[in-house]
Formats: sequence, C-alpha cells, structure tokens
Amino acid sequence: MPFLEAKQLSIGYDKPLVTGIDFSCDRGELIALVGRNGEGKTTLFKSLAGLLPVHAGKVILADKPLDQWSIRERARQLALVFTERHSLGGFDVRSYVALGRHPYRKAFSKLDQHDNQIIDQSIEATGLTHLQDRSLDRLSDGERQRAALARALAQETPIIMLDEPTAFLDYPGKIEVLNYLKKLSKEHQKLIIFSTHELPLVASCVDALLYISNGQAERISGDEKEIERVLEERFGGLRVSK
Ligand code: ADP
Repeated sequence: MPFLEAKQLSIGYDKPLVTGIDFSCDRGELIALVGRNGEGKTTLFKSLAGLLPVHAGKVILADKPLDQWSIRERARQLALVFTERHSLGGFDVRSYVALGRHPYRKAFSKLDQHDNQIIDQSIEATGLTHLQDRSLDRLSDGERQRAALARALAQETPIIMLDEPTAFLDYPGKIEVLNYLKKLSKEHQKLIIFSTHELPLVASCVDALLYISNGQAERISGDEKEIERVLEERFGGLRVSK
C-alpha cells in the first residue's frame, strides 16, 4: 500500500488547473516537483496538504482519504514548508521550531520535557544549536531555510513537503539542503517532496520526479541517467549552449 496517492485528482482555484493527476509515493522517497512557473506546483502542495479543496478525485494518505483525517491528525502526518524570504515577526529560532509541536499540545499547555527534547534534536539535526536564541530576522537565508526545516522536523511527520527550499541560497547552500533532504528521507524513512527550479542538481539526489506541464502531471522514476535524460528532453536542455 503506497503511503500517499493521488487518484484522478483535479486541482485549481476557480477552474481546474491540473487534471487527471494519478501517482503514488512511499516513505523513504525523495521526490522533486518540477515544472515551469505558474504550472501549479504550489497549488498541488496545497491540495495534497488539504489546504485547498480539490475539484475532483482523491488524495489518499495511509490508505484513508485525506478528507477523512481530522486537521490535527493530518498535521501529525504531513508538514508543509513554504519558503519565506522575509521572516515572520520577532520569533527566535527555538520558539519558531517549537511551533512544530503544535499538533501534539493541548490548548494553552506548556511544552513538556518530550517536546523540548524533540525541539533540541530538530535544532541540532539542522546545525542550528549555536543560533537557537537568535531572532529569525538576524539569520542568513540559508540559516532561515534550515530553521524552517527544523520546524517541520519538530512536527515529527512521515511526510514533509517543501516549496522551493533551495530558492535564495547560494550554490553550496543549495547542495547542502539537497544532501540534507536526501539523508532525512533515507535515514528517517520520510517521504519528502520538494519543488525546485534547480534542474541540474536534482538528478543525482532524487528517486523520482513529479513533472507538471500543460495541465497534466506525471511521476517519472528512474536512475540518475534516466532522470537527467527526461529533464533535458522536457525542459529543452539543462546547459547554456556554447
Ligand atoms: P507554480 O507554483 O508552479 O509557480 P502556482 O501553483 O503558484 O504555480 O500557480 C498556478 C496558477 O494558479 C497560476 O496561474 C496562478 O496565477 C494561479 N493562482 C495561484 N494562486 C492563486 C489564488 N490564490 N487564486 C487564484 N489563482 C491562483
């Protein structure tokens, strides 16, 4: 049984934008969602996370339709990370990461020892321990991106979806984030789906692509060579011609 499935899904706002989406994916997979600007990548994330009603079809999470999960249960299964260039208010890193514990806490309850342990681990895993008391406003883009990841880790979900996690990062920063996502998916058996325009970087790290174009979406699996070939073909080359 696949962990996450889309069955004949149609997504969009006033009218359907991408239709007939059929794919399945599993824990332990790292998947890049690729497509030109405006094709519907963010819309797909919102629909898979249950934040946007679908026009038709179903999202199935662990063999149960997404709309049958309560919001709280869903938040324990799936974390969605949007990339904010400018940070939210005056949160320090630790308080921001602590927001990830929300689905596990009773209203107005304090963080307990277990919550604090998970927060510590998430901050440590993303290499932010020395910055945990610093305000998000005073982080570099790469550090802020890692804080967003730490927050998703603290949410302890089997699925993490990230909208353009490598945007705004310098080249080594992009590679660092991709390496980290790969490690997380394999060592923690998480299903990680991230959207990206970093096409030359993805072939060597992902298990599959979700490719959106012209109102259609498909899953493309294969080894590094095959994924590179498909990207070259669909995007008309990955290198500037001489
Ligand atoms: P991508 O992430 O692939 O760049 P999006 O999913 O953000 O694409 O957007 C897909 C299309 O949906 C675009 O044409 C965009 O203008 C439109 N769109 C995005 N957000 C909204 C919204 N809140 N209401 C109506 N249309 C929207």
